[in-house]
Amino acid sequence: MTRVIRTVAEARQLLAGRDLACVPTMGALHEGHLSLVRIAREHAAEVVVTIFVNPLQFGPGEDFERYPRAFERDLAQLEAEGVEWVFAPSVQEMYPDGSLQPTVFAGEAGSRFEGAARPGHFDGMLTVVRRLLQIIEPRVAVFGLKDAQQLALIKTMVREQKIPVQVVSAPISREADGLARSSRNVYLNTQQRAAAPTINRALERAAELLDEGAPVESALAAATDLINAEPELEIEYLDLVDPDRFEPLTDAYPGALLITVVRAGSTRLLDNLELSAA
Ligand code: AMP
Repeated sequence: MTRVIRTVAEARQLLAGRDLACVPTMGALHEGHLSLVRIAREHAAEVVVTIFVNPLQFGPGEDFERYPRAFERDLAQLEAEGVEWVFAPSVQEMYPDGSLQPTVFAGEAGSRFEGAARPGHFDGMLTVVRRLLQIIEPRVAVFGLKDAQQLALIKTMVREQKIPVQVVSAPISREADGLARSSRNVYLNTQQRAAAPTINRALERAAELLDEGAPVESALAAATDLINAEPELEIEYLDLVDPDRFEPLTDAYPGALLITVVRAGSTRLLDNLELSAA
């Protein structure tokens, strides 16, 4: 039986002293989130999933209002996974007195790529993640590699601020055709959905070329061409970076990340691929 907690006071009271693995989410759960839940299950006695659409990590004009919300459906899925706890606070509970201000700052590694495209996004994300970790005090927290820059920033925050939690990363969960699962995929129309798997295919192609020894520039150009051949898709960025600081690389190495954001209409599709050892 999954128990739903709505307030910070209740969370502190009910969760104190438990051996917890936490999976922070914004709800509208899909198979990708459930894969994180299953990984969490392997790491601690009990699993707590947080569901909170964090207004602080959405910029003006972004999709905070229309972000998909499906609490009853989410809860049914978590019940089926045997999740013990769901923490689903209100905005007022997380930001009392209307204090919608960040208290953690992402710094330079958070200023590139997603940070540049969405000013303030990472500050808002880190602020809520730290708050959730302080309230729940899990031993383990699981985050998806789908949001690779987010994961890197969370690891840095946990290390720098000495938050006593083990951060576990989970591989990207994909649809059968390679599209990375995302709550925002529901925004795609039929043509956009049909074009979207090209993103992963393009990253795979770039990785293959790098593996064969091609220069970074030409591997990125080949991936760019594949995506540009789809009229439904428009590249926002596509690059090869180091996985910690997200600095662009001119030489490839195992562990480096191919990262991209591609727009389909107004929907931003994030994807990335880690270069493997030859
Ligand atoms: P979100 O609800 O989109 O904020 O995501 C909550 C967590 O699920 C984050 O740690 C995401 O990185 C992770 N996640 C979302 N989609 C996927 C996916 N397709 N594969 C792996 N992890 C994911």
